[in-house]
Amino acid sequence: MCEQGALIGFRVVGGKRYLRCQLCEATLMARENWLSPEEERAVYDLHNNDPGDSGYRAFLEKLALPMIERTPSGAVGLDFGCGPGPALAEILRESAMDVSLYDPFFCPEPSVLQRQYDFVTCTEVVEHLHSPAKVFAQLDGLLKPGGWLGIMTCFQTCDERFDNWHYRRDPTHIVFYRETTLRLVAERMGWVMSVPCKDVAIFYKPL
Ligand SMILES: [Zn+2]
Repeated sequence: MCEQGALIGFRVVGGKRYLRCQLCEATLMARENWLSPEEERAVYDLHNNDPGDSGYRAFLEKLALPMIERTPSGAVGLDFGCGPGPALAEILRESAMDVSLYDPFFCPEPSVLQRQYDFVTCTEVVEHLHSPAKVFAQLDGLLKPGGWLGIMTCFQTCDERFDNWHYRRDPTHIVFYRETTLRLVAERMGWVMSVPCKDVAIFYKPL
């Protein structure tokens, strides 16, 4: 994640090896245990991301509401890693946000990555990244100065509960961040981070 800390063996769970970065405290699944892109896609196809589902909507509002609070109406944004259903974009559009979509599997439109945005949202995405440091740098490039980045991912907290943690059990989840990991990212990128609620981090890119 930080590309600087030493990785040490952390756990082996169900034949999968996990490593821990001693500097940023990210936990990573060893590369040999990653799914192939085809297997990964098959898991995503099982996800139910229906914007009409009220539980799912409440889940997305954990990120959407703090973003709406911070950005002016009419702000132009990108939902990076939108998945199969543009549920988050629909919530933001109800607040007059202009939202473009990008997803490497479901919406692979590279031209949207050539612009800069007032805000970028990234829900349930960063835990899947093969090259997290590279993608965080890309996210920085997608943000205008004065822009906001919203990330939602289950923060990793208790090591004793890691083996049975539901988030770990998803075989497409290969990077787990502690709050301290994300604070280190913010510091490196020159962003200001806040945590408005559990598992949500909002970053401000200063002017
Ligand atoms: Zn690290």
